[in-house]
Amino acid sequence: MSFFNSIGRTMNKGNRTMPRRSPTTPTSPAVGGPYDNAPGMAPSGSAGSMQQQQHGEQREKPLYLCSPFVEAALVKGNFKTIVVQPKYVDLTEWVAVNIFDFYQNINLFYGVVAEFCTLHSCPTMSAGANLDYTWIDSSRRQVKLPAPTYIDYVMTWVQNLLDDDNVFPTKAGRDFPTNFAQTVRHVYRQLLRIFAHIYHAHYHQILHLRSEPHFNSLFAHYLSFGAQYELFDIKDVKGTPTALVGIGDLWEKWKEMGILEQQ
Ligand SMILES: [Zn+2]
Repeated sequence: MSFFNSIGRTMNKGNRTMPRRSPTTPTSPAVGGPYDNAPGMAPSGSAGSMQQQQHGEQREKPLYLCSPFVEAALVKGNFKTIVVQPKYVDLTEWVAVNIFDFYQNINLFYGVVAEFCTLHSCPTMSAGANLDYTWIDSSRRQVKLPAPTYIDYVMTWVQNLLDDDNVFPTKAGRDFPTNFAQTVRHVYRQLLRIFAHIYHAHYHQILHLRSEPHFNSLFAHYLSFGAQYELFDIKDVKGTPTALVGIGDLWEKWKEMGILEQQ
């Protein structure tokens, strides 16, 4: 599978087709939403401790940081060249089509591991030994959701945004909304959390399917693009000292290796 080839194809957004997502989970209307201004991360406390006891191996170096998996990629070298805005393409349009592509590719990868991401295996949206992401409910409370529920809410929310011509206009001459940059940053941070969960909880399944070169390339592309256009904050990738995001170490490692630019 080559998601890079799809960039040129999807530049014509008028031709885009959007497969319905979520092959496994029933789609529920997202109550509340991911519009959290706070980091939205909560140390998982007793739940996290329990998880560590059940999965003692999590204290060891995660597989995604181990050779040869950490360097497995479809494309060798740096991603800088493919994230740079093409000369005759509007910046907002460039960001929009890339968000569209990332969403589709994440949806495909999550579809691959979704059968393993269940209420039982993933009772929280975990992304580190002491990190469970929380969802903001309709009363503005932070609540923990099972990962498949959380991810379904995010993907449904993003799908609805992409389908909304007022948010992602597809007709010529129609302008993007004034809050587009803000919306895109929200989307980017939420999709980043899905990557973080897959790396943390399902990387062994990605390996089992020998999909790690594809998945690593997609994620490195995602990080590189997001850094180029400031679509996330460092704390979104690294977390906080008490609630580290597992992929924070991968981000550092890839910068060391030259796969990602030093910030
Ligand atoms: Zn899961």
